[in-house]
Amino acid sequence: MKRIAVVDNEKLKDMQKKLYIQGLCPVNRRGIECIKIEDKKLYIDELTCIGCGICVKAAPESIKVINLPEALNQQPIHRYGENEFMLYSLPTPVFGKVVGVIGKNGVGKSTALKIISGNLKPNLGDYEQDGVGYDELIQFFKGTEAQGFFERMKKGEIKASYKPQHVDLLPKTAKGKVGNLLKKIDEKKRFDQVIELLDLGNILENDLATLSGGELQRVAIAATVLRDANLYIFDEPSSFLDIEQRIRVSRFIKGLADEKTAVLVVEHDLIILDYMTDNIHIMYGEEGAYGIVSQPKATRVGINVFLDGYLKEENIRFRDHEIRFFQRPPEKHSKNIPLCSWEQIECKLGRFHLKAVKGELHREKTIGVVGKNGIGKTSFVKLLAGVMKPDKGKLNEKLRVAYKPQYIEGDETLVITVLKEAIDRFNALLVQPLALEELFYKPLNTLSGGQLQRVAIARCLSQDVDLFLMDEPSAYLDIEQRLLISKIIRDLMEQTGKTALIVDHDLLFIDYLSDELIVFEGKPAIEGEVKGPFSMEAGMNQFLGGLNITLRRDEESHRPRINKPGSQKDRQQRSEQKLYYS
Ligand code: SF4
Repeated sequence: MKRIAVVDNEKLKDMQKKLYIQGLCPVNRRGIECIKIEDKKLYIDELTCIGCGICVKAAPESIKVINLPEALNQQPIHRYGENEFMLYSLPTPVFGKVVGVIGKNGVGKSTALKIISGNLKPNLGDYEQDGVGYDELIQFFKGTEAQGFFERMKKGEIKASYKPQHVDLLPKTAKGKVGNLLKKIDEKKRFDQVIELLDLGNILENDLATLSGGELQRVAIAATVLRDANLYIFDEPSSFLDIEQRIRVSRFIKGLADEKTAVLVVEHDLIILDYMTDNIHIMYGEEGAYGIVSQPKATRVGINVFLDGYLKEENIRFRDHEIRFFQRPPEKHSKNIPLCSWEQIECKLGRFHLKAVKGELHREKTIGVVGKNGIGKTSFVKLLAGVMKPDKGKLNEKLRVAYKPQYIEGDETLVITVLKEAIDRFNALLVQPLALEELFYKPLNTLSGGQLQRVAIARCLSQDVDLFLMDEPSAYLDIEQRLLISKIIRDLMEQTGKTALIVDHDLLFIDYLSDELIVFEGKPAIEGEVKGPFSMEAGMNQFLGGLNITLRRDEESHRPRINKPGSQKDRQQRSEQKLYYS
């Protein structure tokens, strides 16, 4: 059986431990050098390794030895180095179509995009050479769609423009006013049109360094499409955007594809991915070890296959369980025990005005909160927590609240220190399912966005309070992690009798976890009104009406999908005033 070994020598620094591990290896004990130590680094020879896993048990945080699926009998497209991550195959852009890529974190989606955009030269697994030329790639992909793609690349017929994942790093590489920066790269002379379509008109005079995450994302998308290219690549274009902006951006991206233009997108928001792509590739594998790209599939079928976890044509099960949605959410038998209520409250914050007419929160409930950015969601919770006082109205309880903010920053504190309460109180419910043990001895400022998010969620949920408020817990998480977090939050509220308010812009995530819905309406930075909590159906109807979209459930997987505007289903749901499922 073919296997790969991945060793993180940055984590495995202790020489005594390395020698100890080497001494444990049964192959080394037979006199064959399977584990070698060179230049103070530990290496594993994948050809002689028998996959016994003894070294992995001795250093689970630093060593992975993985048996590859039998069906995977091919050369990789790229390997970063000896005992490092390996990528098999690539997604293929198609002219006239938006092609999506879906998969969990750490299986090489960004690596694949970098290769296709020409930002990384692949080495076909031979990490000792710099990278291969187009002739070798054409030969490598002979007989596949990718062959034609690299032939056109070689002839210089394809010019790629690429939006990277981390837009928050943008102010480090570019400085100045938004309008000036975008005008400088306006190779297609589409400045005015793109500014209008992405709603950037009111921030053109702002300095890049002062922008919010959502503004930076839209500026990065504008910068990508203003370049004269015929292949546009977007790595996670919906991060930091609210739902309205997500829909606007996905319509915009969808509109870019024509017979002379191809678009490739990596996206974790399944509703948005479904809405904007024609085909998708599924990427699967082992986080940080290897990644494989499936054949392209029509989007609807591809997303359902991804949720099933089984690729029929390739005969590969890449997840040991299906992800299921319910046609109707499971009935809860909680007794509606009141937690707090409010009536006619109003509050002024500078020129911003917040209003909440009447509402009540109950114990054991998970309440989704939807609405634009900047319309008072955090201020409302501060009112509930008694941190802020309303100018008018009645608020009958002062609650103890634990808060996870939208933007989380890490310092040098070790993960184990901030998770003390979580480890003591909810080891089985939080720490284990979120795979946090392997992060215990890492400082917070060395974690990836997704790791930091999981730590922040566990820390928030472990506190002994009445109400949890989480602002965008889905950010940086892949779809599997998002659904896992939903389940953890629901289970915890049921078991502890507490209440959670979850602000998020991923509608599928909100749909999966919420018992009820609060809808925020208003104008960012000017006024906000709190409506609800409603039942999911009533709340979604109210919210989707503002977005001018209708949602149905997929017949097979029961996942939510946006109806095509003007389609029979869309018209029928609108006429029945059931914008949320029919
Ligand atoms: Fe040796 Fe391989 Fe076993 Fe590790 S998994 S101890 S390298 S044989």
